[in-house]
Amino acid sequence: MASDCIFCKISTGEIPATIRYEDDQLIAFEDIDPQAPHHLLIVPRKHIRTTLDLTTADNQLIGHIYQVAGKLAHDLGFAEDGFRVVNNCNEGGGQAVWHIHFHLLGGRDMTWPPG
Ligand code: IMP
Repeated sequence: MASDCIFCKISTGEIPATIRYEDDQLIAFEDIDPQAPHHLLIVPRKHIRTTLDLTTADNQLIGHIYQVAGKLAHDLGFAEDGFRVVNNCNEGGGQAVWHIHFHLLGGRDMTWPPG
């Protein structure tokens, strides 16, 4: 846990969020500024700063994140219409919160390439 990290604080319940799923490894909650009709953030409880800080010890965790993304898309009813999982890495990649997270976006057609 990083004491100044907003996603660590959401993980511990110190900061409120609309939680859609949680287990011992991760938490999934509504993005405060949704970019699609469905926009969740899937966040490991472990404080990992960026994708570049992942190690082989995190391989199972990343697989779990993608499985949870699919389950949420299915349970919330937008899996069949299509969805997107996005991880932004570093400032140039659009990262603004320095705790690794995966955006799960659905409920509208996605465009390509992303901006
Ligand atoms: P990034 O740009 O990939 O780092 O995404 C950070 C995301 O976190 C943005 O989509 C923000 O809207 C979202 N966000 C920031 N603070 C909060 C919060 O307190 N609750 C929920 N979402 C947040």
